[in-house]
Amino acid sequence: MKKQRPFWLEQALAAEKQQPVTPLLGEITAEVCIVGGGYTGLWTALQIKQQAPATDVVVLEADICGAGASGRNGGCVLSWATKYMTLQKLFGESEAQRLVIASEQAIEHIGAFVRKHQIDCDFRHDGVLYTAMAAAHVGSTDSVIAALAARGLNSYETLPAQQVATRSGSISNIAGVFSPRGASVQPGKLVRGMRRVALEMGVRIYEQTPMHRIDPDVQPVVHTEAGKVTAKKVVLALNAWMPQKFSEFSRSIVVVSSDMVVTQARPDLLKQTGLHNGVAVLDSRTFVYYYHSTSDGRIMLGKGGNTFAYGARMLPVFDQPSPYRAQLGAAVGEFFPPFAGLNIEASWNGPSDRATTGLPFFGNLRGHPSIFYGLGYSGNGVGPTYMGGQILSSLALGQDNAWTRSAIVKGPRGHFPPEPVRYFGSLLVRGAIRRKERAEMLGRIPSRLDRGLSHLADAAGKADHG
Ligand SMILES: Cc1cc2nc3c(=O)[nH]c(=O)nc-3n(C[C@H](O)[C@H](O)[C@H](O)COP(=O)(O)OP(=O)(O)OC[C@H]3O[C@@H](n4cnc5c(N)ncnc54)[C@H](O)[C@@H]3O)c2cc1C
Repeated sequence: MKKQRPFWLEQALAAEKQQPVTPLLGEITAEVCIVGGGYTGLWTALQIKQQAPATDVVVLEADICGAGASGRNGGCVLSWATKYMTLQKLFGESEAQRLVIASEQAIEHIGAFVRKHQIDCDFRHDGVLYTAMAAAHVGSTDSVIAALAARGLNSYETLPAQQVATRSGSISNIAGVFSPRGASVQPGKLVRGMRRVALEMGVRIYEQTPMHRIDPDVQPVVHTEAGKVTAKKVVLALNAWMPQKFSEFSRSIVVVSSDMVVTQARPDLLKQTGLHNGVAVLDSRTFVYYYHSTSDGRIMLGKGGNTFAYGARMLPVFDQPSPYRAQLGAAVGEFFPPFAGLNIEASWNGPSDRATTGLPFFGNLRGHPSIFYGLGYSGNGVGPTYMGGQILSSLALGQDNAWTRSAIVKGPRGHFPPEPVRYFGSLLVRGAIRRKERAEMLGRIPSRLDRGLSHLADAAGKADHG
């Protein structure tokens, strides 16, 4: 079956001026060679150029920039505030606080960047609403909000039920907390806009140029089909593709789909729901439903945790319409009655890189002083990849700062079991989570076994989408 480009990327490509795709042919040198042209790779390139404009930066991308998760995600731009407990446990009090603040500032920085460079990507800084759709989920954010409040970091307010329904556009949401520190975006247009600005700043981008291997010499050499790049520093920004190239990461992440649908543009129906701005809405399930509206009158709805990839392989289904299209379409009709029965315009899915902690990790490949990597955003990457850019640009520029000293730069914080245990274990836990959530939606108490198995996923740090 032919590879299908996700809706967001198609829309972005149709809106931009024809920009040539240049593959790498021959041997070149660079000061910094970045492999992977998604948000992580491009933020790294952009931030290097912002700090040291004369640096010679090359980006190698296997497909076209945005072909990975960055051009197909749900566009919910979130901070790490709700991950405060995990951050504190892993990195200690002061680093956890710094990371929460930095993750909130990242949203501001992205907004300022798209305004400055006139990237038309529907970036709407209208906040985030975490909701409960079942009585069992009410209050699930209370403890983290109390912890944030005790440290003067809380931006969440509990809304009366009526306001939750109004602001989220759906009476399916029975309770919720709102923070202004969140946004939504058309993700494909964002990544393509970043590519345009990177080119304007002098970054050389070679697309249709997969890295085959890397020789970790004193000066690393990145080999491609028809060329090679000898670079002083190399940054690997391969996200879910990392385990394919570097087997040492095969147990650091689970590759799991997030699936999504987008409705036709019907501003009239959208108005009836009351969803009048770009607020990002997420419910409290482990396999979360997430959605937002678009400026042209659509609703985008996604759900994480569906297709698990054996051995973290890249599955053909990730480049096909979502196998869960019917389920997601039904959820659109259930959550937003005015849209019931309306055709879904498009569905797609894609690979999410889920780490054991629910947080990304960064480091030096095999301890090499000049080769850096970052991955594991666990379904919350649109905002945090900006921090990935701060970390990886600091490392590539040889800086000594809070980013390069951070404990988040010390590699993966845990490993999943080896195959086949991991795959069959994932399916077992997925089944338990599905049964538990079905019971909770019906107001029943889930079985003790299902609660216990579901807890394994929560204990490992709940993903935002993946
Ligand atoms: C369906 C889906 C929905 C999501 N929804 C949200 C959301 O609403 N909010 C949120 O915060 N996060 C969401 N995420 C997560 C978010 O999209 C990612 O965390 C983020 O895009 C990661 O960016 P990246 O640059 O690290 O990875 P990617 O964008 O995946 O970039 C990696 C790039 O590397 C390239 N590549 C692979 N192999 C090679 C090679 N050998 N040589 C050269 N290049 C190579 C790939 O083609 C790809 O372009 C979602 C993810 C998915 C899949």
